[in-house]
Amino acid sequence: MKYELPPLPYAYDALEPYIDARTMEIHYTKHHQTYVNKLNEALATAPPEIADKPLEELLRGIDQVPESIRTAVRNHGGGHSNHSFFWTIMGPAAGQSAASGTAGTAGAAAGNMPDEKSKIAGAITQTFGGLKQFQAEFNKAAAGVFGSGWAWLVLDENGKLAITTTANQDSPLMRAQKPVIGLDVWEHAYYLKYQNKRPDYIDAWWNVVNWKAVNDRFGE
Ligand code: MN
Repeated sequence: MKYELPPLPYAYDALEPYIDARTMEIHYTKHHQTYVNKLNEALATAPPEIADKPLEELLRGIDQVPESIRTAVRNHGGGHSNHSFFWTIMGPAAGQSAASGTAGTAGAAAGNMPDEKSKIAGAITQTFGGLKQFQAEFNKAAAGVFGSGWAWLVLDENGKLAITTTANQDSPLMRAQKPVIGLDVWEHAYYLKYQNKRPDYIDAWWNVVNWKAVNDRFGE
């Protein structure tokens, strides 16, 4: 199976001013493309029963992937899977009025948050005690990733919502978890605009989370 860069569902400047166009373009056309290319290179050396397996299955069973390509599948397959997911759970801030409404309210979560009547908001509130509490906990996890990695809201192996982090391009799929939202905290995701200020990037990112897409995926 030959992998390709999936279409970006919006323009490079669609997430401005929270994520700048230059970062988006480099992130998508250079970083993500490189994960795709290197995944294809690794799989080209693998027998068909491995090369033709869906990527999600390869990641879920990463320990069964032949050792000669395991690290490449982990890093570049994980990178392809994580970024393909990441693009779909973001969207232009202005296009999400139906899902916003809590920004600026005293004591409320900051940025664009899900409609409180949505399924995902109900599940988050039930698990974390509220959207604000969830956001604070997620932000802490994302800011605390040492070096390169991701922060996630996942459905864990028991079907419960949980906040986790992964190092490098490791995927929650490798732990039998299903990603619900994910935030790339590699420096390449924010350095041009935010330099060393990762917490500012995290705060800004909440404005471009596409909660409708998250809620739809969560409902599946
Ligand atoms: Mn990235």
